[in-house]
Amino acid sequence: MEVTQETLQQVADIIAAESASRKMSEAAAARLRAQNDADRERKLDDKEFCRQFDTMLHDVGRMIILLRRISQDEKWDERHAWKVRRCLAMGWKISCPHDVVFFARLTPDEEKMSVDRFYREMTNNWPTPPREDGIKMVDCRAGKACKWITRRRPAQAPEGQFCSQICRQSFLAVQKRAKAGVSSSVN
Ligand SMILES: [Zn+2]
Repeated sequence: MEVTQETLQQVADIIAAESASRKMSEAAAARLRAQNDADRERKLDDKEFCRQFDTMLHDVGRMIILLRRISQDEKWDERHAWKVRRCLAMGWKISCPHDVVFFARLTPDEEKMSVDRFYREMTNNWPTPPREDGIKMVDCRAGKACKWITRRRPAQAPEGQFCSQICRQSFLAVQKRAKAGVSSSVN
């Protein structure tokens, strides 16, 4: 075969094309690596989020704050918080932050319902966890003083506990004041 200028140019073109495609595949591989690293980090973050979520108190106020933070949206209110609580009461578990948002979604019927009716539907027949060793849900320990009372029914909480920090704090404050009142009248 005779080596012409044209052949040399063809070879040079092939080498250039190969090197370009190798560079591109290196860039693609680097992108993929970065993506995988990000995925791994996100999965770790999700795992940590779920761990913290499982151990935190799932009261209405906290759920609203959490929903707003996760979704960067202010639209969430007490109704959505109750939906999350109900899903959790049914024994549902989250596997990523978005699951909380998913639990909070209202059905079209619920969207249309009056707030009163919504609470009635939510709190009537409150689900008990399917596990036999599940926590028994009863009325909030604050009773009639419960801050999340709806239609004179205190919110549900694990037996002997408060449904929220707010209830706990105000209940303890009232108790403390009562005690102080008793001791000052004795003196
Ligand atoms: Zn309460």
